[in-house]
Amino acid sequence: MKKKIIISNWKLHGSICLLNTLLIPISKFYIKNKNISAKLVIMPPYIYLHPAKKIISNTNIELGAQNVDINLIGAFTGETSINMLKDVGVKYVLIGHSERRKYHNEDDEVVAKKFKIVKDANLIPILCIGETKNDYIFNKTKEVCKNQINKIFDVLGKSGFNNSMVAYEPRWAIGSNQIPPVDFIKKISKFIKNYILSRQDSTEKLFYIQYGGAVNDKNIIQLLNIDDIDGFLVGSLSLSLNSFINLLKNFNHT
Ligand code: PEP
Repeated sequence: MKKKIIISNWKLHGSICLLNTLLIPISKFYIKNKNISAKLVIMPPYIYLHPAKKIISNTNIELGAQNVDINLIGAFTGETSINMLKDVGVKYVLIGHSERRKYHNEDDEVVAKKFKIVKDANLIPILCIGETKNDYIFNKTKEVCKNQINKIFDVLGKSGFNNSMVAYEPRWAIGSNQIPPVDFIKKISKFIKNYILSRQDSTEKLFYIQYGGAVNDKNIIQLLNIDDIDGFLVGSLSLSLNSFINLLKNFNHT
């Protein structure tokens, strides 16, 4: 079985203490369980990327960032560039998370620019797409996802999604304790896969599809059965050591 990718998004949580009490034990777990069928990417806040990299250095855990600026260098106080992220060992960058769209007014235009910055630096962008509760109720999920995907093709062309990841994250499920019905996630992930395949320049699937939104150590068992899902974006649960280790253990029981 191809290894699934788990992305642990710490959001605005973190401290030196959390590195010691969460990341060190997770690293030890990975060193001890080399055959675990889940590749792990940790996304702490920027300021903890460098110390986190040191902690995971003798494991196969990789580093990701939650955001990046659209500028490469210059008078942009408070921003972090893609080259800075690369410098500290980041491989993956989250783009267009719904919390950035909501609290920082990031629209599809900005999201596409950021996606391009990440690709140009040869890192892997993870594009977050997904519908609001209203879109879900009114059966607009496919249309919303399609529009968000189209913007990337418009800016990057037919090879836009090569070596990238798309995270289907229903906005209403993030931070809740409710995932959509598994059949619905199945239908939407298949749609996303086929839609990107229909617009790209290759017949091969050169991208990964993640699911994110209220994933936990119980519902993961059903979610693992969805063929078109290559991995999961996990927020809140990944901050709780025991539950997160339980979630990881489930990957070896399928
Ligand atoms: C997320 O932050 O992308 C996410 C999926 O969060 P949660 O797992 O807490 O719903």
